[in-house]
Amino acid sequence: MTVAPGTIAPDNRPVNVEAAVTKMEALLGGHIAAYLDACVHCGQCAQACHFHEATQDPRHTPALKLQPMTRVYRRSKSPFAGLKKALGLAPAITEAELRDWEPLIFDTCTMCARCTIVCPMAIDIASVVAATRQAFVAAGLGPPDLLQAADNARDKGSPLGVTPEVLADRVEWLADDNEVEIPLDKEKAEVLLTVSSIEMMKYPDSVVAMAKLLNAAGIDWTLSSKGYEATNFGVLSGKGDIAKTMVERIATAAEAVGARTVVVPECGHAYGVLRWSGANLLGRALPFEVVHITEYLADLKRQGRLKFKPYSEQAVTYHDPCQISRRGGATADARYLLDGFATDFREMTPTGNYNWCCGGGGGVQAMGRAADVRHEVFRIKMAQVEATGAPALVSACANCRLTMDESKAALKWDKELISIVELLADNLVPADKG
Ligand code: SF4
Ligand code: SF4
Repeated sequence: MTVAPGTIAPDNRPVNVEAAVTKMEALLGGHIAAYLDACVHCGQCAQACHFHEATQDPRHTPALKLQPMTRVYRRSKSPFAGLKKALGLAPAITEAELRDWEPLIFDTCTMCARCTIVCPMAIDIASVVAATRQAFVAAGLGPPDLLQAADNARDKGSPLGVTPEVLADRVEWLADDNEVEIPLDKEKAEVLLTVSSIEMMKYPDSVVAMAKLLNAAGIDWTLSSKGYEATNFGVLSGKGDIAKTMVERIATAAEAVGARTVVVPECGHAYGVLRWSGANLLGRALPFEVVHITEYLADLKRQGRLKFKPYSEQAVTYHDPCQISRRGGATADARYLLDGFATDFREMTPTGNYNWCCGGGGGVQAMGRAADVRHEVFRIKMAQVEATGAPALVSACANCRLTMDESKAALKWDKELISIVELLADNLVPADKG
């Protein structure tokens, strides 16, 4: 299937071109201008992008996602901008162009950074896309369901409507049903666990699994109704005020309980935002360490505080969530957890920092109109898994899992998807037998 990006999102919303330009001008300082100047138009990024590879549409070449910012840069900020403008070499951007670019900036970029690792100039296109999304939102553009998810996070506490009351109800239900202690709103705790609403609403077993693992290792931890949502749809949607609010909530909750560590659950973007952008969004240093659940569990395993029975039921392979491995730096921890545990573990090709995205990162999972292109992208993942011969795919991101579950159903694929925390919790060796 070939997807024509300009046809994904036609609608009649009014577009404020001037607001978009003003926002881009404001964001064009520092590294973004340097990236725009650095691109040598070599095109090497094209084959690194799953959207380009899945559709073979040249418009999905990652460097083209620099276009909106580049056009504004040439006209107002680049050397001799005034002269270029006067000579007609730097035309103003138009409403039609903004509409045409919108699917390129939202629907077909998962901010996975695979293009960056092949780019000879190391241009972080994902960061330019994130900034450009802010300008599109200022103009009144952006996928309505993604924008609504961000507003839900601000107004209700989470994109899927997990208010503090819903959180308390679901925690009580999960604790009772599974006979596991899930502390909520302890006065003091060393560790604050956060959750993604995808887990809470669609994969609650992974919340139970995290509780079992932390309890088994004797960790002093809690969830907090002041700050529980790990995902940050403010960043994904281009709504900077909501991005800051989400980080503030977690910081407030961690400070209230005195937590020195905040554990991010199975969610890649949640980890990337809080760990690498959290302090900038908050406007001060984070008063705690941020770790992904796989990093935290790997550390507990290293310390001998968690032990697992070997898992030999079937061969498994591992899907690296982009924000945890390539952008996150925690590539080795999932493997350390699987090492000596999954007795028939098979790496995909390519793997680790070069692994292909699931197709649903960067908020693309939340865009209903992007479902078809997501499924096409998922065929790359299917081929990767099938080449290993493993019947099951383990991962550490609920957003990847939801993306893959939906594509798996749409494409009638028969492989099993497994959460790493659920697999580990199901095979825990009780402390008295370890
Ligand atoms: S690989 Fe880098 S330098 Fe080459 S076209 Fe892509 S973004 Fe530009
Ligand atoms: S960040 Fe990922 S999805 Fe976005 S352009 Fe680069 S390779 Fe494609």
